[in-house]
Amino acid sequence: MDDSSGLKHKELEFTLAAVSQLSSSSLSSSSSSSSSVIARFSADSGVAELRFHRDSEFIDGFNVDIGTSQLFKLGPVQSLCVSESSGASKEKSYSRAVTIQFRNEDESRDFHSAFEQWQKDVIQGIHLPNGAIAASKSKFDYKIEPSSAKMYFHYYGQLLHQQNMLQDYVRTGTYYAAVIENRVDFTGRVVVDVGAGSGILSLFAAQAGAKHVYAVEASEMAEYARKLIAGNPALAQRITVIKGKVEEVELAEKADILISEPMGTLLVNERMLESYIIARDRFLVPNGKMFPSIGRIHMAPFSDEYLFVEIANKALFWQQQNYYGVDLTPLYGSAFQGYFSQPVVDAFDPRLLVSPPLCHVIDFNEIKEEDLFEIDIPLKFIASVGTRVHGLACWFDVLFNGSAVQRWLTTAPGAPTTHWYQIRCVLSQPIYVMAGQEITGRLHMIAHNAQSYTMYLSLSAKMWGPGAVQGGILQTSSGKLDLKEPYYRMSQPQSYTMAQDQQPQQLLQAQAIPIHTEDLDEAELLRQPSENTGPQLQ
Ligand code: SAH
Repeated sequence: MDDSSGLKHKELEFTLAAVSQLSSSSLSSSSSSSSSVIARFSADSGVAELRFHRDSEFIDGFNVDIGTSQLFKLGPVQSLCVSESSGASKEKSYSRAVTIQFRNEDESRDFHSAFEQWQKDVIQGIHLPNGAIAASKSKFDYKIEPSSAKMYFHYYGQLLHQQNMLQDYVRTGTYYAAVIENRVDFTGRVVVDVGAGSGILSLFAAQAGAKHVYAVEASEMAEYARKLIAGNPALAQRITVIKGKVEEVELAEKADILISEPMGTLLVNERMLESYIIARDRFLVPNGKMFPSIGRIHMAPFSDEYLFVEIANKALFWQQQNYYGVDLTPLYGSAFQGYFSQPVVDAFDPRLLVSPPLCHVIDFNEIKEEDLFEIDIPLKFIASVGTRVHGLACWFDVLFNGSAVQRWLTTAPGAPTTHWYQIRCVLSQPIYVMAGQEITGRLHMIAHNAQSYTMYLSLSAKMWGPGAVQGGILQTSSGKLDLKEPYYRMSQPQSYTMAQDQQPQQLLQAQAIPIHTEDLDEAELLRQPSENTGPQLQ
């Protein structure tokens, strides 16, 4: 990497008006206008840091690791720099924030561009001792908490989870069809399989006539992929398995086409799309093909009284005042919130949708990695029926834009079910809508370092019925959900094939869930936490 920034080896200094540290307990301020504060970009310790000095004294505890921090503009001359904690446990790790006051707008702007440049350079390893490339930390390592990555690659290192994906015939069959029907895109071409897993897509690409396939896989599955590929000798000579992250490995040549299956729940869970984009930038020739090339997140409000009651009832356990002599009610509110913070994963009847869906398009050929750090989708629907809206239903599809045949892989409700199912974000407060009424809102998703997203959902509709002022008050319902902690509802009886108005036995049972703790069967209560069938990544 050459020195494009001109900053290599050079330490940058900025004189500030003031700096102060925000902490959860107190506002320990070091601001002062009499003596100036210097902010220095430095790589002295082998880590790219921002250090603060006053009267040539290093201000202890204020230093910021540039690779893991974010800088926000609070105003024309004030900014906030937030650093992630390096604490090992999720519960005990808190972020730190430093408020920076600039002397004028120009200096604020220069500081921001220096910070941005250093952050880019950190990722490329510039600035580290003697300008050497730091091979130890890659783009992936900077973003993702090591414990999350360890669990993630451990999961994919097991054959049973690869089998689960291979046995999703909608998924694997669509990939197969898309590749084989588009032989013209593969024949004689160099292919990179991004996150090859068992190597199945590499084998498909070789079947379609690829000149050579590089199968890049970071988990221990790479060894199994080698074994599987070696066992298919007609194809094996045109496939090379490379064990490592796409962010880190080097390839002998550029690829004409990338193939990958980087989709998680709601398309973006697992943050593997970012690796797909990084692989594009590192390995793909200009105007090379991506299989798939476009992803779309579809969303629509839904109404599902049974699901709502089921979620709300889960927290009833904590309403017991005499659980072996212990009053559990102090935790009821937290448990209630906790259940509503889990996106529900299952297959639902599309008739539960309250309006036609809208979609958010992600063009894998064009998008930048950073565009996936924060996804903000304004919502606007027209209700087709008068009902109670319980939340937002979401699913996705991806496009294989082959030169011969275009094919969509869809996870829509009503389409053949995939292992992704659909997800529903349930709001703890339903909203009432009339047919023809507008429902507005926002889905704001912020990536976190555990390879997933925090989701902020709000839905609003104008109030109606007696008491509502004409054209006036909005009913708004909001929720915060963690895409990393879904509630897998597949062990529950499914209403999927039956119409709600048929009132099938299983739905009547769900409806009959008692709401008073005295009525609750103890065994039933104790069983509830284990209903979640556990992690299922893709
Ligand atoms: N392509 C296979 C597996 C898909 S699952 C199939 O379609 O069946 C995604 C795979 O990508 C997992 O095996 C996971 O370990 C791998 N992976 C995820 N992120 C990666 C990264 N940054 N570098 C290399 N492999 C990665």
